[in-house]
Amino acid sequence: MKASLLLIYTGGTIGMKQDPEDRTLKPFDFSGILDEVPELAKFALRIDAYTFDPLIDSSDVDPDTWIKLTHVIRDRYDDYDGFIVLHGTDTMAYSASALSFMLGNLAKPVVFTGSQLPIGVPRTDGKENLISAVEIAASRDAGGRPMVPEVCIYFNSHLLRGNRATKVSSEDFNAFQSPNCPVLAEAGIEIRYNRSEIRKAPQQHLPLTIQDRLDTRVSILKLHPGITPAVVRYFLLSPETRAVIIETYGSGNAPSQPWFLDIVAEADRMGKILVNVTQCQAGAVNMRIYANGKRLEDAGVVSGFDSTTESALGKLFVLLGRYQDNARVKELFQQELCGEITV
Ligand code: ASP
Repeated sequence: MKASLLLIYTGGTIGMKQDPEDRTLKPFDFSGILDEVPELAKFALRIDAYTFDPLIDSSDVDPDTWIKLTHVIRDRYDDYDGFIVLHGTDTMAYSASALSFMLGNLAKPVVFTGSQLPIGVPRTDGKENLISAVEIAASRDAGGRPMVPEVCIYFNSHLLRGNRATKVSSEDFNAFQSPNCPVLAEAGIEIRYNRSEIRKAPQQHLPLTIQDRLDTRVSILKLHPGITPAVVRYFLLSPETRAVIIETYGSGNAPSQPWFLDIVAEADRMGKILVNVTQCQAGAVNMRIYANGKRLEDAGVVSGFDSTTESALGKLFVLLGRYQDNARVKELFQQELCGEITV
């Protein structure tokens, strides 16, 4: 029997065209994409499509979009061998991260892809991205199991783990990287899979579960020289948040001024979950290297290790949605749940 894939089209540059009036890029009807990529018909596959209505520029993606995506996948999970999500590049790493935590017992590929140039323009990167994403989502190992049973991003010849990826360029075709995690596959003449890095599907056949109760009371504070007490207080002590991701310097360092540490300690006393993620693209947080990091740890801040900010956000939304107890969230946040940190 032919393998079957579901192409979920959410929007993004891959399916946009220029508005003749204001010359901005706007999404167009999905049937246009299939017309533009007749190569898809050459695969011996059944490819069905699900189109979001309305189509969205991915800067409009929000947690409801993720919930909708998980529902589309859950409701059709048994009907398809794999899923491809066509998505704008701007927030693709956020969406792929969130879905990795929202889809439990995943045993089939969910491959996100998009493009830097619309699919209808001659030099588009969209065709190769889409065609290879299709091949990857349909590919099976010698035992007939899906080759990549996880949420990932395919872009510019590289398959990356979704919750390790980050957008690194607004212009280059090589727009995504996962600096703290080797690529899962690389497309050359053949698609070469890095099998030791690919997560295994659950041993027994467990039904897909979804975690669609998200608690979004999280904010992100990026430290910078000259940051003021008023700004730090606003982020860390706001009654609106349960958790704050602090984007720190280097290996997890922050100012040592008493005013800063006092606010951190007060937030900790209030029961806030404070998470330390480095601003560096590569490497991990280790709060025991420098005194300025150790002070944060002593004040109750927990390590995000080598997590991306995108992944820390999705992980917190899911954990907060699931547990009322902040201490439990802190504990689970520091554990590896689906390949998002190196332990
Ligand atoms: N603004 C677009 C989006 O993220 C950019 C892209 O698709 O590359 O939807």
